Amino acid sequence: SIELSDATLPIIDSVCTPGYDRTELVTGIVHVGVGGFHRAHQAMYLDRLLATDPTARDWAICGVGVRPGDAAMRDALHAQDGLYTLTLKSPDGNTDTGVIGSIVDYLYAPDDPERVIETMASPQTQIVSLTVTEGGYNFAPSTGEFDASDPEVVADLRPGATPVTVFGLVTEALRRRRDRGVESFTVMSCDNIQGNGEVAHRTFETFARLKDPDLADWIAAHTRFPSSMVDRITPATPSGLRAEVVDRTGVDDRWPVVAEPFTQWVLEDAFSMGRPALETVGVQVVDDVAPYELMKLRLLNAGHQALCYFGHLMGYRYVHDAASDPLIRELLQRYMAEEGRPTLLAVPGVDLDDYCATLIDRFSNPAIADTIARLCQDSSDRIPKWLVPVVREQLAAGRAVQLSAAVVAAWTRYAEGVDEHGAPITVVDPLADMLVPLARRSRHDPLAFIGNRDLFGDLVDDNHFVRPYLWALDRLRARGARQTLGELLDHPD
Ligand code: NAD
Repeated sequence: SIELSDATLPIIDSVCTPGYDRTELVTGIVHVGVGGFHRAHQAMYLDRLLATDPTARDWAICGVGVRPGDAAMRDALHAQDGLYTLTLKSPDGNTDTGVIGSIVDYLYAPDDPERVIETMASPQTQIVSLTVTEGGYNFAPSTGEFDASDPEVVADLRPGATPVTVFGLVTEALRRRRDRGVESFTVMSCDNIQGNGEVAHRTFETFARLKDPDLADWIAAHTRFPSSMVDRITPATPSGLRAEVVDRTGVDDRWPVVAEPFTQWVLEDAFSMGRPALETVGVQVVDDVAPYELMKLRLLNAGHQALCYFGHLMGYRYVHDAASDPLIRELLQRYMAEEGRPTLLAVPGVDLDDYCATLIDRFSNPAIADTIARLCQDSSDRIPKWLVPVVREQLAAGRAVQLSAAVVAAWTRYAEGVDEHGAPITVVDPLADMLVPLARRSRHDPLAFIGNRDLFGDLVDDNHFVRPYLWALDRLRARGARQTLGELLDHPD
């Protein structure tokens, strides 16, 4: 097999490789949080642009990792000159692998934070983009307040501290740009958060204000934070993918990526400096992203949440298996139609019937082997951002919330950490130490879990939510997930 690197690119003929000269590229984008999604999505779009537009050379990407877990990405990408393979798998078994060349450098911040800051501060850098997860913006879900008590934030706020957080690194780079008379870069969030641009704006400006109020004013005046809707289901790299790619293509990639063929990126046209001509490679560049992001977060992401807890409790471990169960399929269809869709804005140019049907097909794609475990992690960062707003808006409009309430009940039952056969469930959540005891306590103190106002706000005070929630939770414990879902959907055995 051929190990992937600049030197071996010319002898790889089994898959598509970058058709452009990588030595001529200039880093215009610094991206924090190079995981599977960034490599399947943004880096793929930039690769397409570099391949088709000779004037786009200034838009290569320098990846940055700030967490201990990112050392492995550093090692993989350094060994391969930033190159990696992206494999797209269709439900019909069609598989397409290509080499992506848009990431030309990777910096692991703990190795050399100064170099990360200087790369961001360089006048060549026009965009700092982010996929740091829903939890990465460090604000309380109910109040939207930045959590200044986070220990890493406290450390980064000390005068003269060497930054370790993304907030510390980015604001220090912005400070140097201001002091040197260099324009501000754009901060472009690509995380699955409603209003991700405004959230990023609030987060970075608040951090800056705590550190240096003048800098916060400068950011408010000069830094732009476009919102975006990003979509391509990208599972964590399965353990067998590397060997499979070698078998099929002869190319040995230390850390390949697999994703579905579907991809969408709707991006707000709000940039401090220049931006790449992404509209030429399939990105929808628009003035208002809000309708698109609501559609995606409340149908796809909230739909994933509807599927995953019931799915796990019913014994499924893969998303496609759960999505093929008629009861779960019906839950998804009805959640979307009855509770998700009524809260959406009109989405220009999108047929929502078609969008919903396509979503179920995408969830049913067996080839990408997306796991229920991936969807069940970090629930406390997800349910409050994706599903709670649906519940709130439905309640305010006097409309149905039974299905959403049952999803929250299924999360509660899941968070007990023990399944219906007594087997342990590993609850992967930053708040697991608090949530698991609360979920267990709700067996004798039924409102204990949803009484957490940081996560649920005042939903616990609203009977229209509490009644169907308690019904479902009680049912889940007494009869199990399958039976509960049957009764919920009016199909009792
Ligand atoms: P991943 O686990 O492969 O990568 C996550 C990256 O984020 C890692 O580099 C990690 O170090 C970094 N990170 C996590 N917490 C951080 C923090 N507090 N500060 C800085 N960096 C942090 O995950 P992924 O699949 O690449 O997904 C990342 C994000 O992309 C998601 O949380 C979501 O918001 C968005 N997204 C993912 C998908 C998908 O299908 N995977 C689809 C659309 C959007």
